[in-house]
Amino acid sequence: MVDRPIEEIVCCMGQPVAGNPTQFIMERAFNAAGLDWRYLTLEVPPENLSGALAGMRSMGFRGGNFTIPHKVAVIEHLDDLSEAARLMGAVNCVNHKDGQLIGENTDGKGFVQSLKEIVDPSGIKVAMFGAGGAARAVSVELGLSGASEIIVINRTESRGQELVDLLNNDVGIKSSLVIQDGEVEIDDDVDVVLNATSIGLGDADAQVPVVVETLSENMVVADVVFNPPQTWLLHQAAERGCTCLDGLGMLVNQAVIGFQIWTGVDPDPAVMREALEEYLEI
Ligand code: NDP
Repeated sequence: MVDRPIEEIVCCMGQPVAGNPTQFIMERAFNAAGLDWRYLTLEVPPENLSGALAGMRSMGFRGGNFTIPHKVAVIEHLDDLSEAARLMGAVNCVNHKDGQLIGENTDGKGFVQSLKEIVDPSGIKVAMFGAGGAARAVSVELGLSGASEIIVINRTESRGQELVDLLNNDVGIKSSLVIQDGEVEIDDDVDVVLNATSIGLGDADAQVPVVVETLSENMVVADVVFNPPQTWLLHQAAERGCTCLDGLGMLVNQAVIGFQIWTGVDPDPAVMREALEEYLEI
């Protein structure tokens, strides 16, 4: 009889989750790394999250990604959190190790990793649009990576202030709030301008409320939106000679980090990027 071990399983849970590219990327990377692992994309409504986590434990899944609407709700079902996930109050990646489910947040790390390919985050001043889940993840991780100041620009004051308080008091990075009401000017000593809102998702013409004339060529302009990757903001920034960073790098790098956490193996980021572009038909 041939002795064949069963495949290891990881998953993504969310709702709606159709169209999520992670399974496509991960399976290509498992294949390229010679790992006999499987990645399942699972539609899990909020009322079934508890049962799904129990199933994950019982069936020995090695881990999973958690996306909308589970990033906060999953925490109460876990045994422990990484420092970043605890600070952000959100988890997008769970590692099942020694019977424990440990929550991580790789979104911010993925962004910082792609930013590092262009600029050292240590000492930079950032102007960031948004205060939602992606903005929290990215700004906490920028703070942990030594950025010197983050200006949070958000439409809703309460959400913006909550993030500014978190950054000042818990992460220890200087932060202030600009309430966005109309177009916002960017100070000329800002190093990185970041759109961490959902403006631009599925709409290449959607305008981030920035005075584009205040973007200058010494700035890096980044967008977390990855579909479409060429957003209105990046188009405007490129016309003004800024260095541009699209959301694909963040997505690939957070997948790289998740892969490393689960398998202990370094995947080939180029294989993952190619798979993502193929999936998105770029
Ligand atoms: P949230 O719903 O948590 O937050 C949305 C943010 O966008 C809020 O700050 C909201 O402001 C702001 N916003 C939305 N519409 C407008 C508008 N018309 N004018 C001004 N502000 C607006 O979403 P997430 O943070 O989870 O996701 C944001 C984006 O990040 C999505 O496009 C998502 O696809 C992307 N993302 C990309 C990843 C990657 O790997 N590249 C990873 C994770 C997310 P307000 O508080 O006022 O409502």
